[in-house]
Order: sequence, then structure tokens, then C-alpha cells
Amino acid sequence: MKGTVHYEVRGQSALLSIDNPPVNPLSSGVRQGLFDGMTQALADDAVKAVVITGLNRAFIAGADISEFGAAATAGASLNDVLNLMENSQKPVVAAINGTAFGGGLEVALCCDYRVAVRSAPVGLPEVKLGLLPGAGGTQRLPRLIGAEAAIGAIVSGSPIAAPDALKLGIVDQVVDEDVVSAALAFSDQIIDSGSPTRKIRNLTDKVIADRERQDLFVQAAANLDQTHRGQFAPAQILKCIEAAVYSDDFDAGMAVERSCFGECLAHPQREALIHIFFAERAANKIPGLSKETPLIDIQSAAVIGAGTMGGGIAMCFANAGISVQIHDNDPEGLQRGLKVIEGNYARTVAKGRLSQQAMDERMALIQPAATLEAFGDADVVIEAVYENLDLKKEIFTKLDAIMKPGALLATNTSGLDVDAIAACTSRPEFVCGMHFFSPANVMRLLEVVRGEASSPQTLGTAMALGKRLGKVSVMAGNCPGFIGNRMIGGYSRQANLMILEGATPEQVDSVIYQFGLAMGPFAMADMVGLDLGWRARKMQGGSNEITARIPDALCELDRYGQKNGLGYYRYEAGSRAPIPDPVSLEVIERVSGDLGYKRKAFSDDEILKRCIYPLVNIGAQLLDEGHALRAGDIDTVYVNGYGFPSHIGGPMWFADAQGLDQVLADIRRFHEETGDDAWKPAPLLERLVAEGKSFASLDACAFG
Ligand code: NAD
Repeated sequence: MKGTVHYEVRGQSALLSIDNPPVNPLSSGVRQGLFDGMTQALADDAVKAVVITGLNRAFIAGADISEFGAAATAGASLNDVLNLMENSQKPVVAAINGTAFGGGLEVALCCDYRVAVRSAPVGLPEVKLGLLPGAGGTQRLPRLIGAEAAIGAIVSGSPIAAPDALKLGIVDQVVDEDVVSAALAFSDQIIDSGSPTRKIRNLTDKVIADRERQDLFVQAAANLDQTHRGQFAPAQILKCIEAAVYSDDFDAGMAVERSCFGECLAHPQREALIHIFFAERAANKIPGLSKETPLIDIQSAAVIGAGTMGGGIAMCFANAGISVQIHDNDPEGLQRGLKVIEGNYARTVAKGRLSQQAMDERMALIQPAATLEAFGDADVVIEAVYENLDLKKEIFTKLDAIMKPGALLATNTSGLDVDAIAACTSRPEFVCGMHFFSPANVMRLLEVVRGEASSPQTLGTAMALGKRLGKVSVMAGNCPGFIGNRMIGGYSRQANLMILEGATPEQVDSVIYQFGLAMGPFAMADMVGLDLGWRARKMQGGSNEITARIPDALCELDRYGQKNGLGYYRYEAGSRAPIPDPVSLEVIERVSGDLGYKRKAFSDDEILKRCIYPLVNIGAQLLDEGHALRAGDIDTVYVNGYGFPSHIGGPMWFADAQGLDQVLADIRRFHEETGDDAWKPAPLLERLVAEGKSFASLDACAFG
């Protein structure tokens, strides 16, 4: 059995120290150790109270994920442990020395009192894996802190810093250091005052007061539509907390929790969320790279281009405490870029999410540079100028002359040829792509693009740097658009073809929104601005793509999208809510008629397949070509960079869930009906169907 609990008597108290490095998950060994320790303490008349703490970094970081899916393990269950603690006539005090998440906080909530060190976060993050706290968390937390605060904590699953936990009433005392001595002293005080226990199950004040708040749960359910649309577990959490508020019988509430937990456990969303959880971690395993791969030591950074991306990338470095220079060849653009950065930080300060001091420190880390030459000593440089291959080649030729030997040279191109850029330097082995997503300081995804010559040291450094910047990094091969943008091209193209064939933007967008994305392709196009593509196409002498005809026609009528209130939709002044507009529909019908389309009706099902299956088919091609290493990598890209709902697990996971034979049958049908080469089934998809396999089974074989 992995993990143990040490037992000793300190003064009048038994001290139980959990030892399951590095983060003390609730393994079978820990559960048994807690059970044995409690039993011994209760049997010893000299022991008047129990203090529970964790050795290592954490109190208890949560369930033991390595035991997930394993058959029920032998020994004491968590409930056995919690029952023993809750029925104890001797007070039990938690000495929260570090992270207390999930089952860890639930153990602490079964204690009579909680003392925490200031640096320790607590929280119930189960919702992030499609679950709910299943060891009484939904019943005890509302009794301790009231339903509204409990809903906030459990539905968000966010960590709560110890000082905030004290304000909320989750912990009773916060100390700066030596939490064990503080908890033992706390326990002595309790013993001196007659050893009163304080079982949360018996607290009723808060929930009785909550019963007066008629709209509490109606409002909370409405909020879920904004924050957790389409997710199963959050609604179940509300059901459990409602049971805690309205039932006088604690055990009846526990029964509701058990039943809701079971429903979450059996729900496909849980598997999808766990898939993404593991896929994000697996993305770091890259053939040819290991812990022994030497890395470039990154102490300082430089960014070229102070536009949308350059500014956001500079913020990423400053947020990670890395000093960063930023240059733009347009001095006004540089000043504008710095102002935008300052404004972004100021808004975060105004929202109370960053202190003024932290903002000042971060701004001080961002240094404007008047010339590229100033970059010479930086350990990494990231280029974020306009998306133009000749310009990027020119910049890399200059960087090759300026940067010190051994520096990492990265381009943030959205899809240009990284090898062509690297070839302009005398050191292509130090060049790779680092493709951030907009807004770069917010979006979690980073595609690290492997050039033909990129060395393991370069790639390992880029992956590690991504981690330091708080990103989820995925390795992509060097093909046009890499992973994400190559796939999204297929999705957008089908959406644009469907409005030529007879669907309306509103219908397509509504299907995609219902599916779970924040917005559909046409609302998105209006937000980005239709004029960007239109101008780019005009600069290249126009486009022959029929899918460009409608956006071009809209732009000819000065319909640029949200920025001027008219695009595929119309917008009321000051509002971003799209309103269907008969004028744009007329344009669509005219262009469609001019191209000889006979407009037809679309079912929602057809629209969804036409949008999502190109992602699957192109994803399969990327896997076959080796441009994506795992289906899980593709899902990670889509969930973290393109707003694909995590509870659906990403496009490849979705395809597995539909049944790949069904997906292939539809792709073949689209191919036959349209004769469009884009629908030619990917050979990998055909092979998997012929062998009765799934994308997930492929990943399991590939890298474990
Ligand atoms: P942008 O137009 O907002 O900014 C580009 C900046 O580069 C401008 O400030 C410009 O003055 C500066 N610049 C141009 N030539 C320069 C030169 N020779 N030396 C120094 N600075 C120069 O563009 P952006 O949206 O930030 O895109 C930058 C890059 O990032 C592009 O390659 C783009 O494809 C990529 N990208 C963009 C997004 C996005 O959503 N905007 C997302 C991912 C990647």
C-alpha cells in the first residue's frame, strides 16, 4: 500500500502525520493509516485530542489519481475514516500545512477545527473533472459557511488562499509558520476549555438563514448558464447544496450527495474531462526529449512587434517574473503597445485581482527598446511582426547577426513555414515556432512548432518556457497552419459553403453555440472584423475561393462586423449581441444565386457534422503525417486554444464517442455528394475503422 501515516503523542494530543510524497494524495495506505491512527488515539486514555497534518508539500492534495478506475482497493474507505473522525468524542484539529484540495479539504471538514498556514490553498476542485465532492463536502461546507459561499467555492472549483478561507469561515486560524505547533497549542486550549467538539454536521444556523433566501438557487442555476453552460456536474452540485439547506436530516443530504456523485461518475462528460486532464499532461512527453535534455537557461527575453500579440507575449514574461525587452519599428506603435499593456494591468488591479505593487513590478520588467540591436544579450527572442514571410525572413536575418550564440529564436507565426524562416539564419537548430493564441496573456495554449533543424535543446527549452509562462504546450509539426489553424480552416470553409448552399449564419451559429462553443463562426467573424481578410485578399489581387464571395460582398457594402455595427448581423450601438439582419441575408442569397446554388434546407445535425467532421478528418491527417503526436494533443489544442467545450473532450474524443465508423460513413457521404477533395477520408481514419479501433486506443499504444 502506497503512503502511510506516522503516529506520535505530543503532550495531551496524538499527532497524525500523513506521509505520501510529494503531495499526500488519499491513497489506500493513507486512508488505512488515518483509520489506524484515529483508532489508536481514541483507545488511549492519555490522549485527549487529535491533530492531523501532512508531511511534504501538502496537507492532502486530493484523491489518488493513480487509483482512478482501479477496482475498489483493500483497507479502510474514506467514509470509514470520516465516520471515525466525526463520531470522535475527542476533538480533532486539522493542521493544514499545505494544499488541502478535494478529499483533503473534506477530511479537514470532518475535523472539529482547522488551523492553516498562510501559504496553504484549500478548495474542492472536483467539478473540473466532471465530479462533485463526494465525501460530504457538499453537505458540510454550506453548514459551515452558508450556501452562497459554498456554491461559489464548489461550482468554481477554484483554490482559496488561506487568508480568504479564514474570512469565509472555512478555517479557524491562520498562522505564518509552524502550523503543527500552532494546532497543538489550539488543541491544548480546547482541552483546557473542557474539550468541546464542534461537528459541522450539527451546525444549522447558516442553512436555516439560507432558507429565507427564496431566489438563491434560481439565481445560482441562471448563473450556471453563463459559467458552465452544458455541463452536468455543476447542476448536480446545486442539487446537493439545496438538499443541505432544506433538509434537517444530515444523512438524507448525504444520500442525495451519494446519488448525484454516482450520476456524475457514470456521465460521459466525466470521462471527457478526465481525458483532457491527462491529455494536457501527456502533451509534455515528446520522443527525443527527456529530463536529461540540456536546456537553455532563460533569464531574459525580447519580443519584436508591440501589436496585439507582441504586447500579450511581453505580459506573459513579466507575469512569470522574467525581464523582457520589446521593440517595434513604429515608435508610436511601441508607445501604443505599452499603453495597452498598462491598461490591461490597470483593469486587473481595478477588479481586485492584482495589487498595484505587483502591477508596478511587472511594468518595470517590460523595457521598451528603440532598436533591435538592444536585444543582443537576451536568452530568447520571440518575433511577432505582421504575418508576412518575407518580412519574417528579413527579421531573422537581422536576429542572426544580433543575438548572442546559444539564444533561442522563436517565431509566433500563425502558420508560415518555420523552416524557411530558420534557413535565413546560420543557426537553424536554435529556431522553432512558439505560437501563442490571442489574447496571449490570457489564452493557455502554446503550440511549439518543430522545424526540421530544431534541436532537442531548442524544443525542450520552448516547452519548458511554455510551462514557466503558465501555458499548456503542445508540439506541432511544421505544416501550413500547424495543428489548430490547419484544422480550423476546414471548419470555417464548411460553414461558409453552407450559407452559400442555403443555411443562414444564425442557424449555423446557433448549432455551434448549442454544441458548447462560445460563439459560432459568423458571430466570430463579425467580432474579428470581416475587413481584415477582405483587405488581405485585395492586396493579393483578390481570391478565387468561392467562400470569400459573401464576406467580400458584405465588405463592399461597408459591412465590416461589430466594429461598425453591421456584418453578417447587425448590432445595436454599444452592444455586442448579434441581431439577424434581412439585408445581409439578401446579400447571401444574391451571391449564392449568382454562383448557381439552389438553396436547400439544413438540419441541425447536418450543420454540426459539416462543421466538426473536417476537424476530425484533418486531425487524422495530421496524426498520419506525424505533425501531431497524439489525438490527445489535438484535443488539448482545441480545448485550450479554440474554445472547444472541455466536457466534450475535444474533436477527436468526440469522434470516438460518435463511433468512428459512423463518422467515416458521413465523411464518405459528404465526399460522394460534393466531390470535394477536402472530404476525402483520411487514410488513418479508414485504417482505424477497418481495425475497429479508436483515436484513444492509438494514443494508449503510442506513448502511454
Ligand atoms: P499586429 O498588426 O497587431 O502587430 C504587428 C506589429 O509588428 C505592429 O505593431 C507593427 O508595427 C510591428 N512591425 C511590423 N514590422 C516590423 C518590423 N520590421 N520591426 C519591428 N516591428 C514591426 O499583429 P498581431 O496580430 O500581433 O500578429 C503578429 C503575429 O502573430 C503574426 O505573425 C500573426 O499571424 C501572429 N498571430 C496573431 C494572432 C492574432 O489573433 N492576432 C494569433 C496568433 C498568432
